[in-house]
Amino acid sequence: MQTHKFPQSLAAEAVRGADIENRFKIPRNEFGPECIYRIFDPADNTTWGFVAVDNLVRGRGLGGLRLAPDVSVDEVYGLAAAMTMKSAAAMLPLGGAKSGLRVDPRYFANKPEEKKALITLFADALWAIPEYIPGPDMGTNETDMQTIYEVFAQKNGAPNHGRGGVGRPPAQGGFPLDEWAITAHGLFAAAVAAENHLPDFRIKDSSVVIQGFGNVGAPIAEKLASLGARIVGASDINAGLYNPDGLDVDHLLAIRRTPEGLGAYCGPLRERFDGEHVDRMLEMPCTILVPAARPHAIHPENATHIHTRLVLQGANNPADLVSEYFLQHRRGIVSLTDFIVNSGGVIAAFIEAKADVDAAFRDQVMAEDGKGRAYIEKVVTRIITENIDEMFSRQANHRAKDVTWREIAHEIARDRLRPGADGSLKILPELL
Ligand code: NAD
Repeated sequence: MQTHKFPQSLAAEAVRGADIENRFKIPRNEFGPECIYRIFDPADNTTWGFVAVDNLVRGRGLGGLRLAPDVSVDEVYGLAAAMTMKSAAAMLPLGGAKSGLRVDPRYFANKPEEKKALITLFADALWAIPEYIPGPDMGTNETDMQTIYEVFAQKNGAPNHGRGGVGRPPAQGGFPLDEWAITAHGLFAAAVAAENHLPDFRIKDSSVVIQGFGNVGAPIAEKLASLGARIVGASDINAGLYNPDGLDVDHLLAIRRTPEGLGAYCGPLRERFDGEHVDRMLEMPCTILVPAARPHAIHPENATHIHTRLVLQGANNPADLVSEYFLQHRRGIVSLTDFIVNSGGVIAAFIEAKADVDAAFRDQVMAEDGKGRAYIEKVVTRIITENIDEMFSRQANHRAKDVTWREIAHEIARDRLRPGADGSLKILPELL
């Protein structure tokens, strides 16, 4: 485990223009990066992390803060560029940004005060970067976002600054994305929208395999089951469970947070995979496959063994480009692109940031159920449904007959980074 001698203060050094390539070997493309900030300790110049601001054409950049001991400038920039695409495709008035701090989050398991101290220093440095709205990512949570929010409020001289962190605790005005299963709600909207475009595909009576029974995987299982789908396969880091007659979803939900996780399942099974074999779950036949665990789950070695009709990409980058091409054009599998279908979280995070500074908007968000969940679900459904319709329409009319779903998704995002014929950017009117 990493040990830490923490800094007394942190500051941000902005690197722009040609210096980005000279310093970090990151070439500029049409869309970014706009600026990369090195977060350092002024006492000894040690680098503690980075903030990558990729593109600001549509607005400030919203993206998570990742804690990892080896987080690199390339990783943070890559994630920022992905946020540019995700927010543009979702028609949000947001650009793309992301941040990373070089620290092992496991170190803080029993040291919440030390974590709070470091996050406070980081937020101090972030105050000089008003174009970045921080949210949670790997290693950070709602408590950390509240810490950032409070540092900003202090600097601002008043709360309700709209600068982030977003994803704060509900009692403090945040929206509990995981408890409300907003990302799964978006995946579900994508599956429902796909029914209108695929005559041979129906959620009712379909069979579903879920890789990663966590905050995304578990609620999408529940939602698909509620429309009459059979959950035939589910896996977590402990076990992969398969039964073509269907698994007991209530039992899966009850055990998923126990120490053994899905390893504690005791219903009937046709196949069970343990330990290093859990990835075999991806090869079980089904109608809907939901990778919702790690990147690169689908790769050239297992792509020939995937038997499904629709892949809902819950996880980010669940497949490499060659495998996506192969699934689509050799196997006739529709694989709906991660940043189109898993954008529920960023949509909700934007609504939280806007509601923080716009009282009339907050009233509108709260109007239906007093919590904001109904409003967020409606907006997420609308955006993702519109984007799935757009994906299928472009696919049907594309001049390149072997275009991939991911290429189409990028085309949609890139088009939304450029002003239309009337000079304006496509932004969802109620979110302006
Ligand atoms: P989570 O930590 O709640 O759940 C992840 C699950 O995957 C856990 O059950 C874990 O045991 C399991 N897992 C890990 N490795 C596995 C493997 N090899 N095989 C099977 N299961 C494995 O995480 P989450 O919030 O559900 O996120 C899942 C994925 O979706 C991540 O890639 C995340 O980046 C992406 N994502 C999440 C959100 C969100 O709102 N939570 C939004 C967009 C994208």
